[in-house]
Amino acid sequence: MGDMDWGGLPSFYRSLLQVWKVFSINRQDVEMGPWIMDEPLFFNQFLPIETLRSGSVRAGLLRAGITRVCHLRAEGRWLRAEQVAETVKYRSVRVCQKILDELTTALPASAAAHMERYESRCPELGGGPFPEVTVAAELGDWQEREELILSFRTPQMGVFSGIEKKALYIICVKVLNLRALEDIRISKWTDLLGPDSSPKGSWRVLYKVPIDKKSGDLQWRIVHGALATNRHKAHLDPTVGEGCAFCGASETVFHAFIQCARLEGVLHIVRKWCMVLGGGYSHAVFIYGPKYSIPRKREVVLLNFLLGKAKAAIWMTRHRIGGTGSVETLHVLRCLIRKRLLTEL
Ligand SMILES: [Zn+2]
Repeated sequence: MGDMDWGGLPSFYRSLLQVWKVFSINRQDVEMGPWIMDEPLFFNQFLPIETLRSGSVRAGLLRAGITRVCHLRAEGRWLRAEQVAETVKYRSVRVCQKILDELTTALPASAAAHMERYESRCPELGGGPFPEVTVAAELGDWQEREELILSFRTPQMGVFSGIEKKALYIICVKVLNLRALEDIRISKWTDLLGPDSSPKGSWRVLYKVPIDKKSGDLQWRIVHGALATNRHKAHLDPTVGEGCAFCGASETVFHAFIQCARLEGVLHIVRKWCMVLGGGYSHAVFIYGPKYSIPRKREVVLLNFLLGKAKAAIWMTRHRIGGTGSVETLHVLRCLIRKRLLTEL
């Protein structure tokens, strides 16, 4: 549709047709069936006619009302090139011959039988099923990658007549925002934990009870790197130091929750919890949360609660340095868990 002339179309129809740019279209069956006579001659990827790529040739045919296969047929035969030239008022019989040659070459072998049936008004013609088209999101050179936030795995496209309108809408939104979202990763953590450490499938657990919303929010913000670490602040204001208040190393979100030496004690107990309640420890389990599974639901939500409290203790003590309150992460963690247990009693 790229070189289509939109001139003369009201803007409503123009935008309606533009929507199709969002999709790549494919015909399911090469068998064109009885609809073959109605196949459009222009912009039809299934009947590629090189000569009709010329706008002036198309305009000539259009003026003469020749737009579909049936318009080049009469009395069970193809029109002769001279007849076409006369109708179109072309001087060049050669161009018309070329169109006819290219068209007959492009048609599938079964076309002749279908045209014959159509033209002899055979009763079994009966319209036949309209040719199905399958659609897919038009992605250009973009490629699906595990660590990217944008994914076209859902909703699924397929035969156009069977796709829900909501699914079509979602694909439109995704394709229209493709350029803005193409490089955005799901999480900053894929840099450290590797692209295969995708949190897909884990995030569902981050907010599950018994965890409280505040701890859930903190977990979510850690996954997205949406925290005002010193590195982040220094990026916004170069006069602020980016060092960790405990060890002086650059305080990134990775440093604050995994790498700082002060976390040794708390990460030791986190490892133990993961061994007992989950399948073992990994940074990915700690940061993204344990993978949810219904048979192990109780262990998973309990582990998630404990990991959430550990992160809350880390973040709280990080803020307390130079102020009041304990900066002993393990001590604060014990207090947080005790407080919660008391409210449950
Ligand atoms: Zn540190």
